[in-house]
Amino acid sequence: LENDTKFNRVMLKISGEALMGDQGFGLHPPTVERIAREVKTVHDLGVEICMVIGGGNVFRGLSGAAQGMERTTADYMGMLATVMNALAMQSALESIGVFTRVISAIRMDEVCEPYIRRRAVRHLEKKRVCIFAAGTGNPYFTTDTAATLRANEMACEAIFMGKNGVDGIYDKDPATNADAVRYEDITYDEVLAKHLKVMDASAIALARDNNLPLIVFPLDEPGGFKGILAGRGTYTTVH
Ligand code: UDP
Repeated sequence: LENDTKFNRVMLKISGEALMGDQGFGLHPPTVERIAREVKTVHDLGVEICMVIGGGNVFRGLSGAAQGMERTTADYMGMLATVMNALAMQSALESIGVFTRVISAIRMDEVCEPYIRRRAVRHLEKKRVCIFAAGTGNPYFTTDTAATLRANEMACEAIFMGKNGVDGIYDKDPATNADAVRYEDITYDEVLAKHLKVMDASAIALARDNNLPLIVFPLDEPGGFKGILAGRGTYTTVH
């Protein structure tokens, strides 16, 4: 198989909610398996793949804090939720023959590997999909920031942010505004100035300051993740 994309190493970020299907909570195994197959088609091209999966399908720090929980404790619970999602994705990928490593920002050696940058790079060179779990390991951050941080550390060429039911970034919410217009291209500064809800501001600034392009694409795009990598389908590029 030939790699007709211009990418050799990429970061795929998906939210935890992307794994819950129509259930409204938790993991929906057929959905996890579908995304794993998408990842495999790109992996089959020889592209080196990093993944970060959110935890919002299980727990979000802010929601916990809103219910009176201490914020940092709630954030650690959110980070642990991302580890469960990472393990579910690992299982789905390995069952279709894609070798993976789950690499956690918080040590839990019985469950997965600790994050050691050079070791992670080596895994990528050996074509193992690296699923980075437990966010940045710090409260008050999100998995968007974790994806941007690891994408920089792993020298990924771009971050691909798969969204459910939306094919890029719009000037206003397309779900509630019939006249919403999708951007083909937009700069990080415009995203920040217009307060467009793409990723949180610290993640955007980290990507901007390191010239890391972000591609926001629909997870249900017919051509799939592979098509997006080859520049087909609809998406928005932030640079
Ligand atoms: N989180 C954190 N530090 C990080 C990454 C995540 O504290 O570096 C916590 C935070 O509470 C967050 C939760 O983990 O709400 C789940 O991550 P996120 O909300 O980014 O998941 P997503 O919205 O992508 O599913």
